[in-house]
Amino acid sequence: MGFEFVEIKSLLNRHKKRDPWFQDDYSVNPYKGCSFNCLYCYTLGSRYGQAEPGKVFIKANAPEILEKELKRRAKRNQYGFIAVSSSTEPYMKIEEKTGLTRKILELIRDFRFPVVVLTKSTLVKRDFDLIREIGKNAILPRDTCARDGAFIIVSLSTLDESTARKVEPGAPSPEERIRIVREAKEYGLSAGVAFIPVLPFISDSEESLDHMISQVKFADFVFVGSLTLFGKGQFDSKTRYFRFLEKYHPDLVKKYRSLFRIFPVPSRNYTENLLNITRKIAKKYRISHGLPGCDI
Ligand code: SF4
Repeated sequence: MGFEFVEIKSLLNRHKKRDPWFQDDYSVNPYKGCSFNCLYCYTLGSRYGQAEPGKVFIKANAPEILEKELKRRAKRNQYGFIAVSSSTEPYMKIEEKTGLTRKILELIRDFRFPVVVLTKSTLVKRDFDLIREIGKNAILPRDTCARDGAFIIVSLSTLDESTARKVEPGAPSPEERIRIVREAKEYGLSAGVAFIPVLPFISDSEESLDHMISQVKFADFVFVGSLTLFGKGQFDSKTRYFRFLEKYHPDLVKKYRSLFRIFPVPSRNYTENLLNITRKIAKKYRISHGLPGCDI
């Protein structure tokens, strides 16, 4: 595992278009790279400048930069949900030492921006107090369907502990992740699960999705999204994921080759079918499919 401190010039990314699922207009990444090392991670590898798995850059001056950016946006009344984080895990172990994510959330609270916290880590519990404060006082953009100022979204790709260990080697177990959602709810926070990405032919059958959603039906919402596999380089998700398939699921290699033959995403047919199935299951368990008020 390697860490390096870097100085940055900007932190707050404004999206061209609001994300229709997570409702974020902005994203903030306190770190570059991620120690959780998920095989399917599109932020590792050549797509974003050859970040090696396990190599993490700590954006040391992030709070200082963000303060200026939020001040400017707030002055212009440009409120919008901020995703923390979109391309790194904001609660890696190193966060215990740096406290960067916490400092960022404090600024988000002070400037009254709403937040979507995206995580797989139990360390998020440390900041439940702050996330609750943000939720209470955030100024929501007028045109959002979201009804709260703060959401915690915990992501999972499977509930099978053995598969999760292979595919997401640095992340807490699925059971621990589900417990985060339960505890967040008990704390009074809006919290749900993103089964993103589900793994084709491993965790995406109707039976498997039914089981997965049934296990989190106590949550405020659920999302289900398909896998993306990109690139040919040694650290690219497609290369790393196919290595996993060859070792543990050689019978699936051919099927995956066909699914990802041309594009980094499965066919439209596959994604529409996935959406229809998960909509049906979410309805069965009476859980919102997408953020409450923003059904997808
Ligand atoms: S936790 Fe997220 S950012 Fe980190 S490796 Fe996994 S998918 Fe990538």
